[in-house]
Amino acid sequence: MIYRFILGAFLALPLAGLAQQPLLQSGQLLKDVRILSADSLGGRLSGTEGSLKAQDYIIKRFSEIGLKAFNNNYKQQFNITSRNGSDLEGTNLVGYIPGTSGKAIVITAHYDHVGIRNGEVYNGADDNASGVAALLAAATYFKNTNSNHTLIFVAPDAEEKGLQGANAFLNNPPVPLQDILLNVNMDMLGINAKGELYASGTYHNPTLKPLLEKVKPREKAKLVLGHDKPEQGHHDWTNQSDHFQFHKRKIPFIYFGVEDHAHYHQHTDEFRQINQQFFPDAAALVIEFIVLADQNLSKQPERK
Ligand SMILES: [Zn+2]
Repeated sequence: MIYRFILGAFLALPLAGLAQQPLLQSGQLLKDVRILSADSLGGRLSGTEGSLKAQDYIIKRFSEIGLKAFNNNYKQQFNITSRNGSDLEGTNLVGYIPGTSGKAIVITAHYDHVGIRNGEVYNGADDNASGVAALLAAATYFKNTNSNHTLIFVAPDAEEKGLQGANAFLNNPPVPLQDILLNVNMDMLGINAKGELYASGTYHNPTLKPLLEKVKPREKAKLVLGHDKPEQGHHDWTNQSDHFQFHKRKIPFIYFGVEDHAHYHQHTDEFRQINQQFFPDAAALVIEFIVLADQNLSKQPERK
């Protein structure tokens, strides 16, 4: 009896914990995308008023969620180099949840977009308000559970200007680069007619493949692996978003994103195009992967 009682208690506790903690609240997720892609943010071009408004909102959400800040400041400022040589200040937003292992997983989703062109606001609802909203959902989930590893949440600036925010973050990281086990990058999670979210990067990091295969398909979204082989030409996404800066520094990455669609880098990339069934399920797939990575990564051999 005693044995059975103890076994039962150990089994029940984590299961009860899972049942009580949904991976995300889709209402909050959609609200975050809607606010971040509003016309009033002017397409979130780096160095503009609209960018500042986006920063204020993300900081408010980091603070509500209860993320810690390195050096009491969520902002990491850096110089953006532009083609015409003019000087702009970029601002990454960085918060974290401490773990116990001494190692870190860095979760990224750039918040900048391309601004206003020919009088049209390029709202960037999918690119990449969707990724930032999913990052906020992941932060909310992990704030309410325990993680083995320190989880660092970064919303880089100036991705659209050549992955400059991620580069600045890694040139001045809050933890040593050798302590970063993994980068999980999200860029465009909200629009796909086939219910497919790509997880890209296992060609370079094959040890992560079994973890991705454990992520259970959801009703409206499932993971597909690929878009990471050099012979795929422009269908190889290895250098297409911030994860490339991690890859260049030999830090394993998985990039989550949808295939290009008609609204990609168009002014029609607006909130009303976000697929409100697919997107929450796609974000949940990423959060489940981060749970599995946090539980399993330390079991892998140390990188030399
Ligand atoms: Zn993007």
